[in-house]
Amino acid sequence: MTAKILDGTVLAKKLRADFKTRAEALAARGTRPGLAVILVGEDAASQVYVRNKVNACAQAGFHSEKISYPPEVEPGLVLAKIAELNADPEIHGILVQLPLPRHFDSDAVLKAIAPEKDVDGFHAENVGALMQGNPRFIPCTPYGIMKFFADAGIELKGKEAVVLGRSNIVGKPMAMLLMQASATVTICHSQTRDLLFHTRRADILVAALGRARFVTAEMVKPGAVVIDVGINRLPDGKLCGDVDFGPVSEIAAAITPVPGGVGPMTITMLLANTLEAAERGAH
Ligand code: NDP
Repeated sequence: MTAKILDGTVLAKKLRADFKTRAEALAARGTRPGLAVILVGEDAASQVYVRNKVNACAQAGFHSEKISYPPEVEPGLVLAKIAELNADPEIHGILVQLPLPRHFDSDAVLKAIAPEKDVDGFHAENVGALMQGNPRFIPCTPYGIMKFFADAGIELKGKEAVVLGRSNIVGKPMAMLLMQASATVTICHSQTRDLLFHTRRADILVAALGRARFVTAEMVKPGAVVIDVGINRLPDGKLCGDVDFGPVSEIAAAITPVPGGVGPMTITMLLANTLEAAERGAH
């Protein structure tokens, strides 16, 4: 079997065309969706992510603001800026690029964002709403993955889903969404005793570990749907996922590539959340 490639670039393009139309309709009624992105420090990867987010906004016809601070900035200044953005009617979404420098209390910063503008969905109030099955904002990476399933007509009800990784931004919300879609979910992490036992019975396998090519073909059930969230840089500078793509794509039913899979969908769902926030505000 050769897996169907779940192409994030193609799906993202389709969704973004729809967002652009919706943004134009909203703008005609006097509201332009607006996103503010706060970047603290000089981390190269973070700078690329922020630039991509701001560019994606421009392409979709959204307003965006990038606010940059040096790594040694006083946290109080960032909190004051967040308070200002919370009150700014032109801003519907606020995002603080993580990770923050060590002298920051990241939880306190995320809590300072008004929950109705928390387009990353990391505020405790929004995490709670998601857990209760009544989400206001779904974290962008798992939200994008759910779009892959919907677009490809992949049934989740009754399926065995295994999520590798338990982070707040990917693993946990992913597991919650799969459970709410009536899959039977197992979450694995670094202390899981027999990883192979779990991965080999997964109909849906989501890898979010941050370990290059960790998931090999022998770990995958033939016919499984494999979602690769990982972004790892190899010594030669190339990017690869958490899944050993070549051999696994020989036995899986469907698979996301890296790059060109989950990554483009994550930014796309940031646009979706910003647009939804603007539409809510305009009603
Ligand atoms: P974290 O480092 O926060 O979490 C990694 C998780 O993997 C942890 O729960 C950890 O377990 C688990 N893990 C690590 N090693 C093993 C192992 N050998 N066996 C089993 N479990 C293991 O990462 P993130 O969730 O933030 O990100 C994961 C990956 O996804 C990264 O490569 C990141 O760059 C990428 N990413 C990609 C995005 C995209 O848009 N494509 C968006 C966000 C992230 P434990 O909790 O026990 O330590």
